[in-house]
Amino acid sequence: MTKASRFLIALASLWTLTATADTAIHNVTGYTPTADGIRGFSVLVFGADGRVVATGDETLLAGIPEDEHIDGGGMFVLPGLTDAHAHVYSQGFLGVSLNLLGSPSVEDAVQSIKAFAEQRRAGWILGRGWNQVLWPVKEFPTAADIDAVVSDRPVWLRRIDGHAAWANSKALDIAGIDADTPDPVGGKIIRDANGKATGVLVDTAMALVEEHIPEPTQSEMRETYEVAVDSLLALGITGVHDAGISKTEAEVYLSMADDGELGMRIYAMLSDTGPNLDAFPEPIRGYGNDRLDIAAVKIYSDGALGSRGAAMIEPYDDDPENRGLPFHTQQQLDGFVQKANRKGFQVGVHAIGDLGNRMVLDAFERAQGGKPSPLRNRVEHAQIIALDDIPRFSELGVIASMQPIHATSDMNMAEDRVGPDRIRGGYAWRRLLDAGAVIASGSDFPVELPNPFLGLYAAVTRQDRAGMPEGGWYPDQALSRAEALHSYTLAAAYAAHQEDRLGSLEPGKWADFIVVDRDYFESPASEIDDIQVLQTWVGGRLVYEAPAGE
Ligand SMILES: [Zn+2]
Repeated sequence: MTKASRFLIALASLWTLTATADTAIHNVTGYTPTADGIRGFSVLVFGADGRVVATGDETLLAGIPEDEHIDGGGMFVLPGLTDAHAHVYSQGFLGVSLNLLGSPSVEDAVQSIKAFAEQRRAGWILGRGWNQVLWPVKEFPTAADIDAVVSDRPVWLRRIDGHAAWANSKALDIAGIDADTPDPVGGKIIRDANGKATGVLVDTAMALVEEHIPEPTQSEMRETYEVAVDSLLALGITGVHDAGISKTEAEVYLSMADDGELGMRIYAMLSDTGPNLDAFPEPIRGYGNDRLDIAAVKIYSDGALGSRGAAMIEPYDDDPENRGLPFHTQQQLDGFVQKANRKGFQVGVHAIGDLGNRMVLDAFERAQGGKPSPLRNRVEHAQIIALDDIPRFSELGVIASMQPIHATSDMNMAEDRVGPDRIRGGYAWRRLLDAGAVIASGSDFPVELPNPFLGLYAAVTRQDRAGMPEGGWYPDQALSRAEALHSYTLAAAYAAHQEDRLGSLEPGKWADFIVVDRDYFESPASEIDDIQVLQTWVGGRLVYEAPAGE
């Protein structure tokens, strides 16, 4: 946590301790989703307990002492935004490790590795964010590239999508990977013509190296979380569904919540149904004054589209021998879902390809006896769906947890992979909504930038930030502004069983809200991605304020 934000939080808590009356923010243009659509307001009233009392017009000011009026200066208020699928620790890790995001060439990446190694103490050099697709030579890098600058310490750098990693020879040696090491199920060791590992490991093969990386201590982890939370609050994110945490990470979150130092609301999904789930006899809900829920389990059905790891019913259009890799058999997947659901945990399954999605829907159908479940199981990403499977989301009450920005980041690649026919079920938000599905939106940060206004912009325009393609990519699948906001607020709350306490500015719910510099509903759509957050409030406390003059 930065000094500035500690100071702000100290101020806000001092103020909250002394405040007994309600507080009113007035002179704003505010919007909140409700079950009946968007409601506008010019005054927001919240209590000393941090909960919303009312939204409405200036007449609400009558009963509130003058010194509890806050002039909003004509700015704009929205509910705090929730990122329904992201990775908080990894985001914080970006702040404390080597960041290769946007690196334009392998040479540039190698120079960054060299510079980073010179600054850092001994031990593993960890980082992520490289993307060979952006490089002039669009090929995987090699261990030899890194060896030229760092050969005495292990180097391990995850690809931008987290589904592959790049090692130097020292790291491969520590992991004991040689020409005789077989590819593990669901993974791949990239090799040269002689079968020798060249330095990139895909999906489950990454574990061969990662099991040798020493664990960070709990206090190091807490620092990493604090770096992430501070950066997210500054973007107007007041809640995150953390898509896959370990038992240790859960313990760190619990201790932060115990100490009153969890600065935002975390809805955590435990990674896998093994030891992480076994450590919890039942879901934890509303912990630490509704700051922390540990009530879901995250598993994987397949890999990613970029690396052709996503499991497809028919082969890839641009690789006719390849249908991708399901991570598990159907029977295994069924077993994982049933185990977690029996314990009362919601299950969120990563599924990208149409086969990956179908296998998950089949597993949910069996676990739920063919009908919707009160656990509201979810498909994470739901990127390429066979058209026949789209109605199954609402039939089974399954939430589509999607990332609008993936559509505009992936559009060209995705269409290459699956062709013009299957792309109709790709990033098909409109088809899902029309079929009655609930869509909760997120960014999958740090795979994408965490700024939720980039996601809202992508959802509404289906364009990249340069405004391409003109008119939008399959614009018939775009969301309205109200639908997009709903997917980042009330629908995200619904996806976490929190719609009674979060997701809108309605009486009795937490006063989690943001003040922004532009009108989300009235500004040109092309400016949604430029919206800046001026203040972030969580539970009626100011937790972030933009520096003056910005
Ligand atoms: Zn993810």
